[in-house]
Amino acid sequence: MILTSQVLFFRLNARNPPTQYSFVRSGLVGKTACSAILVRLPNPSAHGLKGSITGLRGTATLPKLPMQLLPIPAFTDNYIWVLHHAQRALVVDPGEAEGVLHWLKLQGLQLDTILITHHHADHTGGVAALREATGARVVGPTEEPMPAPLQRVDEGDVVTVLGLPFQVIKVPGHTAGHIAFFCPDVDGAPLLFCGDTLFSGGCGRLFEGTPTQMLNALDRLSRLPDATQVCCTHEYTLSNLKFAQAVEPDNAELAAYVTHCQALRAQNFPTLPSSILVEKQINPFLRSRETAVRQAVSTHDPLASNDDVSIFATLRAWKNVFK
Ligand code: ZN
Ligand code: FE
Repeated sequence: MILTSQVLFFRLNARNPPTQYSFVRSGLVGKTACSAILVRLPNPSAHGLKGSITGLRGTATLPKLPMQLLPIPAFTDNYIWVLHHAQRALVVDPGEAEGVLHWLKLQGLQLDTILITHHHADHTGGVAALREATGARVVGPTEEPMPAPLQRVDEGDVVTVLGLPFQVIKVPGHTAGHIAFFCPDVDGAPLLFCGDTLFSGGCGRLFEGTPTQMLNALDRLSRLPDATQVCCTHEYTLSNLKFAQAVEPDNAELAAYVTHCQALRAQNFPTLPSSILVEKQINPFLRSRETAVRQAVSTHDPLASNDDVSIFATLRAWKNVFK
């Protein structure tokens, strides 16, 4: 199984210049939103860095990094993704402003653009304050109530942010007008901001859309390149995986991924980003046409119909009541 092994975790040492980072073994420190950061390096060994996801130590002075991706924790389990480069930043789904403003100040960054995937308050609550403080452009979906003014985008649109072309993919299901942003090449790797549509090991609840819409949305995301880094907006992974193992107790890749994610969470590290390849191997909602998943669904609900949408709908309903 390919894990996101190029993702290394660092804690910012504020006393040092911005390009010097210390590795830590114990993850996020206290509840300070920005006390821990994640730096994605396309090729860690080129920077003289070694280590595994669960065993990092030591310090290194890094050259100026081309593009940095990090999840700022918010509320109990949200992540506000930040991508920044050359003093300019984009943020995705800022449910609150405080942690983002702190990070911008700490790094001397100008907020260029706010991307929004859907209208829920835990994804939009910080937009007004961030726009007010930074004058950032706001980009969000066409068919959702949004904090105006904003640039509304829809299926097929391309938004250029920090010089990167993000394709807008419409993924209704969790909400009626939910969108995702996909960039085919960020320092050599595709990147997806998918809001509350795809989670690692799970998918969003169907608040406004239908099972057909969500299945179509997940089918589209699963056709993205395997290497796509999947940036979800909630740390739901371990509870999702508990359900995934109830559905597929014999999935060896799933078992290995559970061990991997448990080790990360034990140190309070994010389990994200995931990748499309990993999700296709372990996520029951991307695997609802697999024989093992279909059999588990019909055992759970012998009255469920056997077509793809009914299997998916029954799987989602099962997850809703799973403890
Ligand atoms: Zn939501
Ligand atoms: Fe949410």
